Amino acid sequence: MTRNQNIVDSILNLVGETPLVKLNRVAKHFKGSYFAKLEAFNPGLSQKDRIALHIIENAEKKGIIKKNSTIVETTSGNTGYSLAMISLVKGYKCILAVSDKSSQDKIDLLKTMGAEVHVCPANVPADDSRSYYEVAKRIHKETKNSVYINQYFNELNIDAHYKTTGPEIWQQTQGKITHLVVASGTGGTISGTGRYLKEQNPDIKILGVDAVGSVLKKYHETGKLDMNEVSPYKIEGLGKNLIPTATDFSVIDEYQKVTDKDAAFASKEILNKEGIFCGYTCGAVLQATKQYNDLGYFNDNSFVVLVFPDHGSRYMNKIYSDSWMKEQGFV
Ligand code: PMP
Repeated sequence: MTRNQNIVDSILNLVGETPLVKLNRVAKHFKGSYFAKLEAFNPGLSQKDRIALHIIENAEKKGIIKKNSTIVETTSGNTGYSLAMISLVKGYKCILAVSDKSSQDKIDLLKTMGAEVHVCPANVPADDSRSYYEVAKRIHKETKNSVYINQYFNELNIDAHYKTTGPEIWQQTQGKITHLVVASGTGGTISGTGRYLKEQNPDIKILGVDAVGSVLKKYHETGKLDMNEVSPYKIEGLGKNLIPTATDFSVIDEYQKVTDKDAAFASKEILNKEGIFCGYTCGAVLQATKQYNDLGYFNDNSFVVLVFPDHGSRYMNKIYSDSWMKEQGFV
């Protein structure tokens, strides 16, 4: 790995090539060996740097955007941070439409990163002109030389992980990987990484992680969108109440659903036992791995890779706050 050995041209050259670290204590009682792909080592502290850079560079190659163009997206999460960071480096304007459910901290962070933030009501239907989807679409339409990232419905989201995360894991494990466990939101990470790995070895099992309160697991099993599955939950970035076309369900073998509480405790376990200050969905991935282990998915020869999506610093007011944990009734 050449990371950090040479001078690089810009911070964007540090996107990808994240480390794979052995999990020594949290997986001690599971069958097989366990490794975490630490996506917090991206400069924007999450796996979303990969798709943000790939989609923007694709638009540059096609001549859709050039200096002073505008990047538009609906997100207050990791993708927003990545887009804002890339826009600063490349000289683009970044406009983000976010819901009024987003915390003030997150909105302030995006503004600090130079983004123009439009706060939109969360409690209106998606097709209402005030919704963040419609606001983003309108801004994109009205702004010359703009690109709408549209991560849930953009095939390039899958492609970014097919071209980078998949090959990295294949090389880092020297082809020994038997199982991949990945949190599914837009589905870009699991679909692109899973597709690449299955092309190298069709026996590799691609195991998804969904949230209690999301429709993805049921849709994978039945092919039907069941809105009875939908209920509020706290984990951000995991699961969905719609079916994203950036998810290729055919490469996913199975889903496990996790609860907010289990995922929160699993995140703290990763911090306390491995020293990895990880985000909420990293705990979700560990919790799902426990459930897969209990269901007998692994044996002594299993070589299991867990993708850890982001960094713990984004959750100081959530899972790493004692009062938040109390408010949720978790402690
Ligand atoms: N975890 C976190 C913290 C995320 O922000 C996301 C992105 N929504 C995911 C997991 C899921 O990744 P993907 O969208 O590629 O399925």
